[in-house]
Amino acid sequence: MTTQELQAAFEQAYGRKAEKMYFAPGRVNLIGEHTDYNGGCVFPCALSFGAWLLIAKNGDQVLRFRSLNMPQEYAIPVSAIRPQPDRAWCNYALGCIDIIARRHPEAKLESGYDLLYFGNVPAGAGLSSSAAMEVVTARAFTEEMGVNMDNDKAYRTELALIGQACEHEYAGVMCGVMDQFASAQGKKDHAIYLNCDTLEFEHVPVKLEGIKVVISNTHSPHHLDSGAYNDRVRQCHTAVEQISKVHPIKHLAELSEDDWREMESAITDPIAKKRARHVVGEVARTAAAVEALKRGEIAYFGELMTASHVSLRDDYEVTGPELDALAEAAWQVEGVLGSRMTGGGFGGCTVSLVKDEAIETFKAFVGAEYEKKTGLKADFYVAEIGDGVSRLC
Ligand code: ADP
Ligand code: MG
Repeated sequence: MTTQELQAAFEQAYGRKAEKMYFAPGRVNLIGEHTDYNGGCVFPCALSFGAWLLIAKNGDQVLRFRSLNMPQEYAIPVSAIRPQPDRAWCNYALGCIDIIARRHPEAKLESGYDLLYFGNVPAGAGLSSSAAMEVVTARAFTEEMGVNMDNDKAYRTELALIGQACEHEYAGVMCGVMDQFASAQGKKDHAIYLNCDTLEFEHVPVKLEGIKVVISNTHSPHHLDSGAYNDRVRQCHTAVEQISKVHPIKHLAELSEDDWREMESAITDPIAKKRARHVVGEVARTAAAVEALKRGEIAYFGELMTASHVSLRDDYEVTGPELDALAEAAWQVEGVLGSRMTGGGFGGCTVSLVKDEAIETFKAFVGAEYEKKTGLKADFYVAEIGDGVSRLC
């Protein structure tokens, strides 16, 4: 959809022109999986696809929500902003408006609004269509409600925190901040080396000459559910407790690989030991991947991605047959530098680095192998690394 087509869709929906238009991207995590809640870093980048929002004030003291992706429409009085039942999609927007008002006492919603969303991130694929929707809403309504922050970097971090709080309180998903952070702080042709605990981050240039980031969608109905996620959190906690008997730590990410070799025997629970081995290794791999990228060693970066998948498969046990089928087929293609699952696991997508001349073979071979093994059809997107949220007009 072009911006003109979006304007026309708004006019058709509401019978007048939109006043403003905004865009926020989805994201993909290149490496650093299941490190965030262990005090470690992640390395996501913003994508060129995401969510658009068009808005205009109305005279009605009502918020009207429509989306070109969803059949349901909502009209919520400004005086009755609260979570809506039945997993209503407007929660991802309404929550942001509520949280802006709570986090910023100076912020005022002075009128009703007509809103129209459009997204081209495949929903539910682990590329964060929900974070894109939250961040685009937070961007628009901080402006409309008069939140004043001159420091652009701090402002973007605040947008991410508003989006995360919305996801917690209105969608009931206790996510970390990575997705919203990438959507807010993304930068074209850069990835974000982010410590989710301290929110310190660095933009690292991703210079891929003759190589593309290819995202492969399992279309699997599985995903990392809260039970499996909570188990992993608990197992990591057990590892921290047992290590702390010989060497007090707060997070597994504090351990270097040398520390690990010295201390791993302190962990008596075999499952906790495997989980911790993934976390310690992944933290080191993520740091090494950032350094490799800075030195232009893309081949090594790719090897680290593949090693990340193996560790998530064997030690963290969050890949499952669909993600393994995609990654293992990708590794066989000449011209693939590396491939791994991205996101929480069990379903969603893989991310691969593929040489330009190998992309067609990649799609054909990986697609066929995947279908043979799982009976499902994969989808492939050649991703561009885009900017974070912005106002378009
Ligand atoms: P993802 O991995 O894509 O973030 P989620 O389940 O977290 O998956 O979020 C998907 C949900 O976000 C959708 O079911 C819908 O409620 C909401 N959503 C995302 N994009 C849009 C959109 N363009 N319009 C309306 N709702 C959307
Ligand atoms: Mg989401």
